Amino acid sequence: MPSLFETGITNIKGIGEKKAKLFNKLGLWSVGDLIKFYPRNYLDWNKFTSVEDAENGEVAIIKATIDTKFVTTRVKGGKLLIKGTASDDTGTIRLTFFNNKYIPNLLKYGETYVFRGRIQGGYGLPEMTSPEFISEEKLLSVQPVYKLTEGLTQRAVITAVAEALKMLPEEIKDPIPDEIRKKYKLCHLSYALNNIHFPKSMEEADIAKNRLVFEELMVLRLGLYKLRNQVKSSNLHKITKDYSEEFASLLPFSLTNAQKKTISEAVGDMMGNFTMNRLVQGDVGSGKTAVAVSLSYTVIKNGGQVAFMAPTEILANQHYESINNLLKGTGIEVVLLTGALTQAEKKKVYAKIESGEAKFIVGTHAVISERVVYNNLSLVITDEQHRFGVNQRSALAEKGNSPHTLVMSATPIPRTLAIIIYGDLDISILNELPPGRQKIETYVIDSNKRKRAFSFIKKHINEGRQAYIVCPYIEESESDSEIMSLEKYMEILEPEFMGYRIGVLHGKMKNSEKDEVMERFSKGELDILAATTVVEVGVDVPNSTIMMIENAENYGLSQLHQLRGRVGRGKYQSYCILVSDSENDTSKDRLKAIAGTSDGFKIAEYDLKMRGPGDFFGERQSGLPQIKTASLMENVNILHDAQEAADEIIAKDPDLIDPKHRMLKTATKALFKSGGIMLL
Ligand code: ADP
Ligand code: MG
Repeated sequence: MPSLFETGITNIKGIGEKKAKLFNKLGLWSVGDLIKFYPRNYLDWNKFTSVEDAENGEVAIIKATIDTKFVTTRVKGGKLLIKGTASDDTGTIRLTFFNNKYIPNLLKYGETYVFRGRIQGGYGLPEMTSPEFISEEKLLSVQPVYKLTEGLTQRAVITAVAEALKMLPEEIKDPIPDEIRKKYKLCHLSYALNNIHFPKSMEEADIAKNRLVFEELMVLRLGLYKLRNQVKSSNLHKITKDYSEEFASLLPFSLTNAQKKTISEAVGDMMGNFTMNRLVQGDVGSGKTAVAVSLSYTVIKNGGQVAFMAPTEILANQHYESINNLLKGTGIEVVLLTGALTQAEKKKVYAKIESGEAKFIVGTHAVISERVVYNNLSLVITDEQHRFGVNQRSALAEKGNSPHTLVMSATPIPRTLAIIIYGDLDISILNELPPGRQKIETYVIDSNKRKRAFSFIKKHINEGRQAYIVCPYIEESESDSEIMSLEKYMEILEPEFMGYRIGVLHGKMKNSEKDEVMERFSKGELDILAATTVVEVGVDVPNSTIMMIENAENYGLSQLHQLRGRVGRGKYQSYCILVSDSENDTSKDRLKAIAGTSDGFKIAEYDLKMRGPGDFFGERQSGLPQIKTASLMENVNILHDAQEAADEIIAKDPDLIDPKHRMLKTATKALFKSGGIMLL
């Protein structure tokens, strides 16, 4: 429907310039945008509860008949209070509204409506305050729930989407070729678009979602195929001798079996005929650094140079220190290269790298700066990979002469998803933690208990520990709100923690400022670090024992798990406090799930099931196209199917020349234009 993407949103009946601005705020500019604005959720209005069964404190949907005339009174402050009651076979419920003088006209005596709202115990009768309602005959069995912005109601979006769908041409071409649709039992695009928005049942919504997600994943896979150089390059840095055992004897601990296995897989690669391209996935604390250093040791002993790239200055420093420590006495020269070095220092480091005197180069993206000339770069390691863009990674790889690459990620990605994202990258998994790790106690609380949590934090700080507090999630549409919201939170925090030392860290700060704050926290000069999720990347402050996360329901579970991994790194018992007021059952279940397990892979699987691949990495740096159809529930198979279908197409028509693949080709191109791909 290219033309609908060029048709401005004001062409829709009922949307004028003013309303259009509100839609623009949601990123919706064209009729096509609106059609692709999939619901974030659905309300199944058929899930009635009887008045009798409605539970106090819970959100309920009740079908009841108005049995009193509504009475309007004026209360203190001039507010209008409108009260009435409604009944079903099992009981009566009190209904209260504020400041809506139309209620008595909207809710007519003797007529039946469906109400949705939280039940509160009134005086004897259960009560709903300002419930949503809909008359019985207007009832859509399943109502889409869209993301909103201030000034825009669900009703308005629903109406606009319905109008937009009417503008679809009668015959829509489906980018997924017929035979693939048939083979994987997918519905037609036309059905999918109509039913993703206005299904008559949840089953219909699922059928539609499946089809749409399938396409997005297939396009992603096709796109990544184009991006990646599929041809394996021959091994120009062959390892002839394995020094892993020798390295292991330098360690103060013995390696876990998972570490040994990963090391031998990677050494095997580097001894083989092709350049290594390996992803190491390991939960926080699984000991990825030791793996990386072991491999580096072998490479260096075989005459090569190693570059190790960390996403932040702090991490680079930390790695440099621990690597230096490990390699003490081996005669291997380790250098640190970051933007923080003075010109003179840099010059010295550059010279050492070029001469080959420096064997192990640890740093930030400075290690790929133009000025650096390697002597014999054989292995490139990138830590916390999903923080780097694809360009940075390839720039580093281009520095040398087809060096081996090792990518380390602490975000466990379920295998199914990893295959789509990383394609033919080989994967090793560190699924075992070194012995003796303590479990981080995790609690889910609501904001009523925040004060108690603060006291808990104080108690620990008074004993010498430190704490992280991660602050509210921010709508990405409001560009500056991250700072504002942290500021707002500081208004609660500062009076509460009078006399304590609080540092603030957020993504809008300059790198040097961030590093300075982190440095102070690391050194114990701050008691509390109030931060946005920028703290999730592997900083290591063993003295901090509490991670408190506000609005926890807003994060992906893997992200929460990652944040939680910031504590429990030292000898002290550590705690994670998840604050959430969400009443949503799914959210509650998710938080319960993370409180109940410390296995990152289990958490990842769970998250993938619940939220679908699009949400998997959190929205900010996703790299996956925004698959707006989030909840895939039991449908992880779709990942596998989409990959298989894409691979079939690639096998027959790698350049997507066949006319029946033309639309897929266009979609693939669009994927990269938006700069979406960040993950490789
Ligand atoms: P991550 O995988 O999160 O990067 P690190 O490499 O930072 O984990 O390792 C976490 C800690 O565990 C480090 O202090 C490291 O020295 C230690 N460690 C790594 N491997 C082992 C092991 N096999 N036995 C005991 N401690 C280990
Ligand atoms: Mg690490």
